[in-house]
Amino acid sequence: MTLKRLGEFGLISRIRARLKYRSGQTLLGIGDDCAVYKPAQGKRQIVTSDALTEDVHFKKNLIPPARLGYKALAVNVSDIAAMGGTPRLALLTLGIPANCPLPYLNKMLDGFLDACAQFKVELVGGDTVSSPKNLFISVTLIGDVSKDRLFTRKGARPGDGIFVTGSLGNSALGLKLLTGEKTAWKGSKKDIKFLIDAHLSPIPRLKESGALSRSKAKITSMLDLSDGLAGDLAHICQAGGVGARLCEDRLPRSPAFTNICAANKLSSDDLILGGGEDYELLFTSPPKDAKKISGLFRKAGSPVSHIGEITARPGEIVWVRSNGRESILPRSQGYDHFKS
Ligand code: ADP
Ligand code: MG
Repeated sequence: MTLKRLGEFGLISRIRARLKYRSGQTLLGIGDDCAVYKPAQGKRQIVTSDALTEDVHFKKNLIPPARLGYKALAVNVSDIAAMGGTPRLALLTLGIPANCPLPYLNKMLDGFLDACAQFKVELVGGDTVSSPKNLFISVTLIGDVSKDRLFTRKGARPGDGIFVTGSLGNSALGLKLLTGEKTAWKGSKKDIKFLIDAHLSPIPRLKESGALSRSKAKITSMLDLSDGLAGDLAHICQAGGVGARLCEDRLPRSPAFTNICAANKLSSDDLILGGGEDYELLFTSPPKDAKKISGLFRKAGSPVSHIGEITARPGEIVWVRSNGRESILPRSQGYDHFKS
């Protein structure tokens, strides 16, 4: 069987037949002009969209198709988690070159639908079109959030602590290892695999976001790290009209990250400050709640680090080195699709 013989509608019915998770909210799923669902009572609906384009976000030879499907959903789940929400329903839009092998598509869909089951998301629709050259995958995700526990980028106040989940720079280093700018990377197989996995199969911090949402801790702002710590913290500062102090020696590094940076003489600061796609949560909270937050994460068995403080100097991020030297970070180091 080929895509040509199967056709658009054949492919859609295959997708529909392979759904592994159904939501109680859905009244009408794939197959009509629109999907119909019943929003949960007393909640706010939230919606987000992220696309992956071949040769921009991924190279077919570097990411296996099942992981690509997983990642397309996972990065959207991370956006829902970043607001304190729960993901519910997904729309999947595929732009497919006519010569794309069917087994490749099937594996990609497997990865996507497995991820839907993992995160309890029902695929309720989408669009399937041809694309002249490159594959693209666009996912729209609908979720909901408690009215009084909606976390946005705006709201950080001077004196608030800055917190981050997990560890930083793993994905950026994993990508470096994958693209093999250097042929013989030094380091253990286990460390290299950990970093590459962090890049190919990021784990959105849904559990942690849920724990924050259910807690009584005041969260003044939150986002997920997709552009790198410096750029994403700048978003929080900009939205709140505040600044920040970041302490180098408090930034969380995984053992694998530390080992591989040391073995290959890589500058870990650049990877941590500018490296994208960690999908960790970055949030701020007043000092009185710092204990609540550390207790909460201890209970959840998940790491969190207090990495700095919000200041009253709009837009200024001060970088405090381990040796005590201070400098002001240059503005936005994030990736811009039309400038880079
Ligand atoms: P229309 O022409 O009315 O927009 P389509 O023929 O594009 O409808 O799609 C038919 C049905 O299949 C719709 O319910 C649509 O949401 C669904 N669908 C199309 N592509 C996908 C996809 N890639 N994943 C899931 N559902 C899809
Ligand atoms: Mg259509």
